[in-house]
Amino acid sequence: MIDEALLRSAAGRAERYLTELPDRAVAPTADALARLDQLGGALPEAGMDGEAVIDLIDRLGAPATIASAGPRYFGFVTGGALPAALAGNWLATAWDQNAFSTASSPLGAKLEAIALDWLVEAMCLPAGTAGSLVTGATMANVTGLAAARHAVLAGVGWDVEADGLFGAPEVTVIVGDEVHAALLKALRLVGFGATRVTRVPVDDQGRMRADALPEISGPTILCLQAGNVNTGALDPAADIVPRAKAAGAWVHVDGAFGLWARAARATAPLAAGYELADSWAVDGHKWLNLPYDCGIALVRDRRALSGAMRIGAAYLPDDAARDPFEFTPECSRRMRGLEVWAALRALGRTGLEDMITRCCDHARRMADGLRAAGFEVLADVPLNQVLVSFGDAAETTRVIEAVQADGTCWAGSTVWQGHTAMRISISNWATTAADIDLALAAITRLAGGR
Ligand SMILES: *Cc1c(COP(=O)(O)O)cnc(C)c1O
Repeated sequence: MIDEALLRSAAGRAERYLTELPDRAVAPTADALARLDQLGGALPEAGMDGEAVIDLIDRLGAPATIASAGPRYFGFVTGGALPAALAGNWLATAWDQNAFSTASSPLGAKLEAIALDWLVEAMCLPAGTAGSLVTGATMANVTGLAAARHAVLAGVGWDVEADGLFGAPEVTVIVGDEVHAALLKALRLVGFGATRVTRVPVDDQGRMRADALPEISGPTILCLQAGNVNTGALDPAADIVPRAKAAGAWVHVDGAFGLWARAARATAPLAAGYELADSWAVDGHKWLNLPYDCGIALVRDRRALSGAMRIGAAYLPDDAARDPFEFTPECSRRMRGLEVWAALRALGRTGLEDMITRCCDHARRMADGLRAAGFEVLADVPLNQVLVSFGDAAETTRVIEAVQADGTCWAGSTVWQGHTAMRISISNWATTAADIDLALAAITRLAGGR
């Protein structure tokens, strides 16, 4: 039986939460976190009414959340949830489709296919690119690398799906020296190892140096990064990809957030040449502002992706209906396509461009404000990431802790090219210039700037 009152109660609580979000401290208090112990203990013997369950988790859980859905959370690379995507997520959860196959959910399969086509269009990647929606960029990297592994080994007559990597021809894997740890984890998961890679030196913004690219021969996977997590810088794909492709390499792109630069005219030139790659990993839950968890794996050659991911033995005929399970590491899965579809349908190309450009404008405003207050911005700000130092490592750490405790905004710490820094990521659709100014005032006050 449907409990309408319960659904309305949950929706009302969610609405209240989101309404209050911009005005509350971004980080939860120690008291709120301590009260979470009341949620545990031994597994209760008797059940509880649904409304009481939701009331309990709302009372104890909501105050313990990080306000990362709000406009002044600048930690990691964190988007919020666009209203249409959030509402779409609610519907998708109610519909509870299994987006495993066309048979298990024709709607799920259809929405995923449309969403993937739109994503390819939005990022100006080659028409006909295949893909799947996965849990995040880590799994999107795994997916792209599995397709790469399939293709480069098939190229030398090795069937990696049948025979694994035991005794396989050696594959050279090339990464930039500031590769994201999640890409190294993905390499581990597909059997290449995190340290058995060739690391290419980077420049003073963290970009792979095209002049330092090694000679390429034999089965090779070159991993480029669109969006250095610290600086936002993009590897110079236009200089590197044609050479790597001419030498027969597979080019994979970790574009978790930075590939979105291609969706806006102001930033697209920074991301030129990435369309020449073979596979791309992008996040939905970062800069596209979808709810967790949504990553996007895209592969130019549909057969390489289905070769790596299919369950049955046979290749699919190219004209077969698209069954999601032929293209993803997962079988049963939620209907992520609805959220992607809803977000892109609500934004349109213009709204998407606007969101990307706006975040970059805010990041520049933040960097300018920090410089004006006398602090050192450590790297250029090509996209949405800002790195700032407040002096030596100890002083920078003190300021970061003070900012987190203050609660006006939240930013984390990083060490970049030997410097301890506060990393500020502006990725939320709801952030305004006024939010940047509020955050700047708090940071400047706590750091003792001018
Ligand atoms: C965030 C990020 C990842 C990992 O993405 P998840 O969605 O957290 O799995 C990989 N690469 C880069 C460059 C990132 O910024």
